[in-house]
Amino acid sequence: MDISIVGNDCAYIYLRAGAGVVWDDLVQFCVDRGWGGVENLSAIPGCTGAAPVQNIGAYGAEVSNVIHAVEFMFYNDLSAREFSCVECNFGYRDSIFKRELKGCGIITYVTLRLTKNPVINANYEDVKHALHGLDNPSIHTVRDIISSIRASKLPDPSVVGNAGSFFKNPVVSEKLALSIKNSHPSLKLFPSGEKYYKIPAAWLIEQCGFKGKRVGNVGVHAKQPLVLLAFEGATGDELINLSHTIIQTVKERFNVDIEPEVNIC
Ligand SMILES: Cc1cc2nc3c(=O)[nH]c(=O)nc-3n(C[C@H](O)[C@H](O)[C@H](O)COP(=O)(O)OP(=O)(O)OC[C@H]3O[C@@H](n4cnc5c(N)ncnc54)[C@H](O)[C@@H]3O)c2cc1C
Repeated sequence: MDISIVGNDCAYIYLRAGAGVVWDDLVQFCVDRGWGGVENLSAIPGCTGAAPVQNIGAYGAEVSNVIHAVEFMFYNDLSAREFSCVECNFGYRDSIFKRELKGCGIITYVTLRLTKNPVINANYEDVKHALHGLDNPSIHTVRDIISSIRASKLPDPSVVGNAGSFFKNPVVSEKLALSIKNSHPSLKLFPSGEKYYKIPAAWLIEQCGFKGKRVGNVGVHAKQPLVLLAFEGATGDELINLSHTIIQTVKERFNVDIEPEVNIC
């Protein structure tokens, strides 16, 4: 694997990985050596070079938390430039590579800063629950738990076409969030900055009756309504139409705008 150690101090290991390294192989590599920071991002499909593009995230972690630098080659003159983590302008499923630099070049290497003294990140309810009662769980345990939660909830793309989460979780004003919570006490709100809350898009979509629904050759996953499914014979138009119907229905019912997490060209 195209992975090398490029820095090492008392607290951190700096690991430079080629864009073509399978992301989950890199996670395994780190976890096997006890280097923490990416274990919550276990079992996310794809390559390391794509990870910064949408700032992959899961189970309370984002790759931007451990990115030290990203190397990028421009198509126009084949020049190379290194972007620091700050320069990557990371946001929720967002980065400079998804916006200003989209189509301008290619990420060639990613350098991660991993901790030698991992702190278990169990902020996410499912992970906290699974770790409950375990003494001193390791990052290995966290990786195993997250991999099995994902396998139980997410459809395997080699069996049925899907891109993982199709929608982002919307961030709404405190006023709107609390008014929805008032009429739907089961709603879980997650503070997101001052006077804003993140609402699970899966909850909104489920409330609108889409969970498990199939329309022609496309549908909404029964175990995780954030995931749209493309069954055999599905067309791009069918999928886009379903996504528009969902967006519109959520807007009409809750006055909340949800937007795609996936890149639609
Ligand atoms: C079942 C399933 C579960 C998923 N779960 C998650 C999840 O939990 N969290 C999450 O964040 N994502 C998730 N995803 C989305 C997906 O895994 C990530 O977006 C991943 O980074 C895509 O990697 P890829 O190599 O397949 O990239 P592609 O899908 O091929 O590309 C994604 C985008 O990145 C660009 N890109 C790819 N490589 C490079 C490069 N080297 N340089 C510049 N641009 C590049 C592409 O042009 C494209 O715009 C999931 C997807 C599936 C199918």
